[in-house]
Amino acid sequence: MPIEPSRSGGPFVPISNRSSSASAPVDADAKMGADAAAFAASEVWRHVVDAMADAALVLDANGTVVHANALVREMFAMAGTGQPISLVSRHPDFLAALDRVQATGERSSVGLRERVPVERQLSATIAALPVASPAPGVPRLLVTFRDLTEQEKLEQMRVDFIANASHELRTPLASLRGYVETLQGAASNDAAARERFLGIMWSQTIRMTRLVDDLLSLSRIEMRTHIAPSGVVDLNSVATFVCQTLEPIARGQNVKLTLVGASGPANVRGEREEIVQLVQNLVQNAIKYGRDGGSAAVSIVRSSERGRLGSRLSVIVRDDGPGIPSQHLPRLTERFYRVSVSTSREKGGTGLGLAIVKHIALRHRADLRIHSEVGVGSTFTVVFDEIEGRE
Ligand code: ADP
Repeated sequence: MPIEPSRSGGPFVPISNRSSSASAPVDADAKMGADAAAFAASEVWRHVVDAMADAALVLDANGTVVHANALVREMFAMAGTGQPISLVSRHPDFLAALDRVQATGERSSVGLRERVPVERQLSATIAALPVASPAPGVPRLLVTFRDLTEQEKLEQMRVDFIANASHELRTPLASLRGYVETLQGAASNDAAARERFLGIMWSQTIRMTRLVDDLLSLSRIEMRTHIAPSGVVDLNSVATFVCQTLEPIARGQNVKLTLVGASGPANVRGEREEIVQLVQNLVQNAIKYGRDGGSAAVSIVRSSERGRLGSRLSVIVRDDGPGIPSQHLPRLTERFYRVSVSTSREKGGTGLGLAIVKHIALRHRADLRIHSEVGVGSTFTVVFDEIEGRE
């Protein structure tokens, strides 16, 4: 239905237009009172406020809440009809903005940092409604609120991530540059030094390549987090493949790698390449951080736990290494978080392995559980829903 242009002097025409209008009625105050009463009496604006996607409330000229939608009541327990706005927020910038908008009719936005009941960052936008009546209960200002806390947190994570990734790349890059300069200068004719330096440069290049590979993997997996995987993957076959691939590395580290599969096909909904990466990262860690002469045990176990589709299948990777002190466990899957940065670097770690595991598990709706005891070892378990195909 086409929207008719508003007629001059109609109930929602701003005051400024009316006063300059050549056809303004002689008794402007009486007209304004009638406009206000008609507007206040109309229920339509209440429905509009209720239907808004943002938390919103309407105030009269005295700063009393005339109407508040459900979202605003969720955001502020005190935002009930008839309450003064100061019960919602006493923030001086906010109260000043309410006065300013009422006086000028110009829309204004202010940031509000709330500390109770929880710390959160809000933004409030105040707009004047077209009827400027001072009467109590007559809608005068529309205030909409947005909670920017999550957005700010994400932005902070993004900034931290870029800073960390740049730092991780800069370290080997600075080392490479130092060796190149030495080889061009002082060591240009020293064959023994050249051999040694080239070896170090090679390992720094490998480190950078590993980091870039992990960064790209993480970003690819994150992009697909919300796309449910559609393939069928047999966990027994994935675990066998990973253990065969990593067996020489385990032997080189003097770690005994063992595998016990589940009986019959162990099928889950998933993307094979990602599940291979998940198991590989866990087994690599068990070998890397395990005990010299110790063991890394992989098992696929059908559990009695019930999932969305029935039974559940767990990939369990257990080592008997030094274990992880409990205070580190909640942060272990954060990007670049390591218990010991120097040990991780020494062992060729990037600090992204478990972040990748977490994101793959998330995409596959699988649960990641970490259990570790200092002096005993660590167990990483990923629990998937099993799908049809069991014997
Ligand atoms: P990294 O590339 O450093 O191995 P991860 O994200 O894979 O990064 O792991 C994060 C940190 O968790 C590691 O630096 C290490 O401190 C700790 N960690 C992971 N797996 C084990 C394990 N099996 N035993 C002991 N510590 C572990």
